[in-house]
Amino acid sequence: MSENKIPYKVYLAENEMPTAWYNLRADMKNKPAPLLNPGTGLPLKAEELTPIFCEELVQQELDEDTKFYPIPQEIQDFYKMYRPSPLVRAYCLEKALDTPAKIYYKFEGNNTSGSHKLNSAIAQAYYAKNQGLKGVTTETGAGQWGTALSMACAYLGLDCKVFMVKVSYEQKPFRREVMRTYGASVTPSPSTETEVGRRILEAHPGTTGSLGCAISEAVEVAVKNPGYRYVLGSVLNQVLLHQSIIGLEARTAFDKIGVKPDVIIGCAGGGSNLGGLIAPFMGEKLRGEADYQIIAVEPASCPSFTRGKYAYDFCDTGMICPLAKMYTLGSSFIPSPNHAGGLRFHGMSPVLSQLYHDGLMEARAVEQTSVFEAAERFARTEGILPAPESSHAIKVAIDEALKCKETGEEKTILFGLTGTGYFDLVAYQKFNDGEMSDYIPTDEDLARGFAGLPKVPGME
Ligand SMILES: *Cc1c(COP(=O)(O)O)cnc(C)c1O
Repeated sequence: MSENKIPYKVYLAENEMPTAWYNLRADMKNKPAPLLNPGTGLPLKAEELTPIFCEELVQQELDEDTKFYPIPQEIQDFYKMYRPSPLVRAYCLEKALDTPAKIYYKFEGNNTSGSHKLNSAIAQAYYAKNQGLKGVTTETGAGQWGTALSMACAYLGLDCKVFMVKVSYEQKPFRREVMRTYGASVTPSPSTETEVGRRILEAHPGTTGSLGCAISEAVEVAVKNPGYRYVLGSVLNQVLLHQSIIGLEARTAFDKIGVKPDVIIGCAGGGSNLGGLIAPFMGEKLRGEADYQIIAVEPASCPSFTRGKYAYDFCDTGMICPLAKMYTLGSSFIPSPNHAGGLRFHGMSPVLSQLYHDGLMEARAVEQTSVFEAAERFARTEGILPAPESSHAIKVAIDEALKCKETGEEKTILFGLTGTGYFDLVAYQKFNDGEMSDYIPTDEDLARGFAGLPKVPGME
């Protein structure tokens, strides 16, 4: 049988690894809408962003023309410590599902931070260092981004200050300790260290925090302290650019075995892993060279794509960040405590939002219990304990493979396995004990979030 020739794992040699990131925006006919200054409603200029972000990253953020960005040698060297990541043929899962579909996953959990976030963390830390800065500030929800950034900062000798959503700070003490081990300082958010934190605490005493609120605090500290800038692990155009390494490697690996995927699936929180995984494939689609079915998967408890509005909104609760046009539930929306913490952001990458708006990709919302059923099935067949976030993609990959079983189609499915779930065992415990709930926001819940959308001068 010819398919037995395809190995379980396809690795690239070091000299086959990508040496440039791919900027998908260069191939988009309809560019993502520009970031706006919340005060004036006008597109932000580079000089308005440089007090917040490093200069090089501002340039990447605003650049919609340059197709390829050479990856600086020092970042390439860091990548080689944990990349290339394998493209794995899920033979055992296929067999368990008894499907004619061929399932592949790109595994990004093979580093201590346990997720794809390290791909952008090292890039952002590198540019901060290059600019002669002392350190960076950021927020973290579930903790993967903060961990990745701590690792990158330790490697480069940069100071790292992390605001961690209070509920995670308390529930995930081990994540916190990993960050501290890498030298980061970790503050539960909202805190009394910032004006915005004090304001939020006064308005909502006893709040357990949110990602949007932690972002506001991190930005405030960066802007007020010379030698510091703010970095963000998802949503931004620059983050999708860095994450294109995932898709570029995947495509090279597929080329090596002479396979083309039909369906590409990824979980979507702020959109960085999905945007990175699909980048080169979506580029082919935009240039009319190939067609792929692309599916974003989000939690039913935080359904930005499937029930959100495509509108300008703040990225943070404190409303101090630039406005981005994206699918959003409103910056005041606080999702129910879903166990896939990395998918609890109210908005979505402007790049993916535009592509979705243009009908170039689909989205599905899935319920938590069904996600953990898929996670368990995957763990028992493929051996890897998946992150709850990644398991959203697994769930839909299984659904698609089971459809193929009904129709007899031999589709090739690729999904992004973004990370491992060792720090999510409280969630697994809830699932194993049958105590997991599937709260889905009502239309009234969502209406409250939409009511807080900003009125942008000149836009409706
Ligand atoms: C952060 C995270 C996600 C979601 O973030 P995106 O920016 O949408 O990719 C998914 N999986 C894991 C493991 C994460 O840590």
